[in-house]
Amino acid sequence: MKNVDYIIVGGGYAGIFFAHQLIAHNKSFVLFSGDRKGASKVSAGVINPVVLKKFTTFWLAEEQIDFLAKTMSEIETYTRKNYLINENIHRIFHDEKEKELWLSKTETDELGPFLNSYFETLETIKNPFGTGSVKKSARLDVDAFFKDFFDYFKVNNQLIQEQFDYSQLSENTYKDFTFKNLVFCEGMGVRANPYFNDIQVIPNKGHHLKVRLSVKLDHQYTLKKKHFLFPLNEDVYYYGGTYDPNEREDEIDEFKREELIVGLQEFYPHDFEVEEINYGFRPTVKDRRPILGNHPEHENYFIYNGLGARGILNGCYFSRELYEHIENGKKLIPEVDLKRFIKK
Ligand SMILES: Cc1cc2nc3c(=O)[nH]c(=O)nc-3n(C[C@H](O)[C@H](O)[C@H](O)COP(=O)(O)OP(=O)(O)OC[C@H]3O[C@@H](n4cnc5c(N)ncnc54)[C@H](O)[C@@H]3O)c2cc1C
Repeated sequence: MKNVDYIIVGGGYAGIFFAHQLIAHNKSFVLFSGDRKGASKVSAGVINPVVLKKFTTFWLAEEQIDFLAKTMSEIETYTRKNYLINENIHRIFHDEKEKELWLSKTETDELGPFLNSYFETLETIKNPFGTGSVKKSARLDVDAFFKDFFDYFKVNNQLIQEQFDYSQLSENTYKDFTFKNLVFCEGMGVRANPYFNDIQVIPNKGHHLKVRLSVKLDHQYTLKKKHFLFPLNEDVYYYGGTYDPNEREDEIDEFKREELIVGLQEFYPHDFEVEEINYGFRPTVKDRRPILGNHPEHENYFIYNGLGARGILNGCYFSRELYEHIENGKKLIPEVDLKRFIKK
């Protein structure tokens, strides 16, 4: 038998950021990662404190951005890399009215820290009304982040690349392991989890393209009109992701490819080739808040889910909340507490 402080199930943003808390606090763990692809590895990696449809911000945005920067510096001490790409989002305006709305929001306490009042017109793309940039926005180097973490776990014998089999779980024992706490970070995989499958986590399917642009952009910004466009390497760019709250099959929806092509053609006037299309299912919650907490009968089995469209900011920030709750009895913020779903 091998004794560990924690078993983590799932290696997306929830699992990885929680693992970081364990590494930072010298706790032992193993992380199970199945071969079913999750949402995190297909995500754009955009870190954005502003809702760019309506020019509003969201709950805890500033605290989350600051905490992410601090966490990334801590991670750098052991992976030797900082995964934050400090390129701002440039929102392409649809018309003058939208630009005026943006400008008026720059004067509010809520949006002032995030919306730049200086507008830019960019070369190569169609942007007759210019662009406004979002301060404190950035991108995560998603591929490098996951590759390095998985390599790190392998070297430290912390990674088990197999599907966690719920039928093999009995109290504090799973196969050859005994553990103090078990944290389920399964994203939409939670539907197969007999302990938490009654929790309403709703899939929101997202597709994105990898495209080869015939005329490269002369900057590294993240552009946003309908969706995000940014460079992955020399001339391959990420464009996406779509939002589809309807229940969909686990396969590529061809009509989304078309939708993305049309979206990109709206502001990119040159030829491009689609190299790849991918999709994933965001784990969302009706009240748009993550879900943290323990099973009512198995008090050391925890759920960490519902990161929604903000896997990076939510995933990073609430990992610490969950860790502090488990180890130091810190009360969970009621808005994210699993108890809100338990009928009295
Ligand atoms: C197209 C797209 C673009 C996005 N862009 C952004 C963005 O720019 N910025 C942002 O912050 N967020 C973005 N998101 C949202 C973000 O990806 C999600 O919020 C996040 O990935 C959820 O992370 P998670 O760890 O909860 O779930 P997942 O990433 O789905 O990870 C769960 C993992 O658990 C594994 N698993 C499940 N059950 C088991 C089991 N029994 N045994 C072993 N392993 C198991 C799965 O295989 C999976 O790998 C995007 C999502 C999509 C789909």
